[in-house]
Amino acid sequence: MNIIEKANKVYLGNFKPVTWFERALFFSWYCKIADCKYCYMSTQPNKNKEAVRSIASILAETIICKKLGWKIGFISSGHNAYSTEKLLLLMKNINKITGKKVWLNIGVLEEDELTLFSPYIEGVVGAIETINPKLHDELCPSKPVEPFTKMFEVSRKLGIKNAMTIITGLGETIKDFDLLKEFIEKYDIEKIHIYGLNPQKGTMFEDVKPPTAEYQSEWIARTRIAFPKIDIQAGIWDDKVENVSALLEAGANSISKFPAIRKFNSKEALRIEEESEKAGRVFDGSLVKLPKEEEFSKELEKIPNNLKREVDIKLIKYIKLMKKRKSKDK
Ligand code: SF4
Repeated sequence: MNIIEKANKVYLGNFKPVTWFERALFFSWYCKIADCKYCYMSTQPNKNKEAVRSIASILAETIICKKLGWKIGFISSGHNAYSTEKLLLLMKNINKITGKKVWLNIGVLEEDELTLFSPYIEGVVGAIETINPKLHDELCPSKPVEPFTKMFEVSRKLGIKNAMTIITGLGETIKDFDLLKEFIEKYDIEKIHIYGLNPQKGTMFEDVKPPTAEYQSEWIARTRIAFPKIDIQAGIWDDKVENVSALLEAGANSISKFPAIRKFNSKEALRIEEESEKAGRVFDGSLVKLPKEEEFSKELEKIPNNLKREVDIKLIKYIKLMKKRKSKDK
């Protein structure tokens, strides 16, 4: 039995043969670090800190996710993009719409913040990106790992779960897997987002080939075999949808990163559902079928009165965008 077959067997011994799409909700794109060598943000003059999305826009997107059966992978922004009060309001309302707590990926949080957020969060996500320490120092000079590990220790003490991200294809090799294994064990990581490098123009990775499906799958398979119950989310971009069955067969639970609203009902969206079937998984939710509009409006009942109108306007805009794709493809 090869490593992929073994990982698939471990997956099926611990989970139902289903999969789904997870959407990351970003409420700001501002990044005060902006010097990670692979990141698009490092090529941009840093945006104004005020460039944040409105709560209404994020709640409308949350409604879309719920009605399409997409889970919220995490909510994310630069640290301090929202005031604490605003962030609490956002999380409370996302909890109300989805009936679930959120994963929070906004950088390193202190103990008082974790305590304050704990009623609304399932866990915290540390953007570790690469587990190879030498590579990490070189690629993320202003985002050291240590503050994240300190946060993981505090969150564990408070009963908050830990998650992490890694990007394959940054120059690490599969030999580094032992370092990842050690890290997951040490910090009780219960969820991991395993992405493949998407080379960005203007960065040192511009001409670097993205990792193959086999390579990203090997990281997933080894993680699945070492940690049978861990939640693994595999990130794919819209030009890599043909990799989905390989990533699922390697033991990933879900798929993320795909621009599901912009590419709703596109051939790539359909391919993700087909690839899931090819991997023997039932795709929970849909990337191609839009529910009736009344279904979306019903969710507005959960929105506070002072935000209802604004959320409704945003919701109509999203639905229009998704329908446009539908008619364009016909
Ligand atoms: S990867 Fe680095 S530069 Fe890019 S958004 Fe995250 S912290 Fe900022």
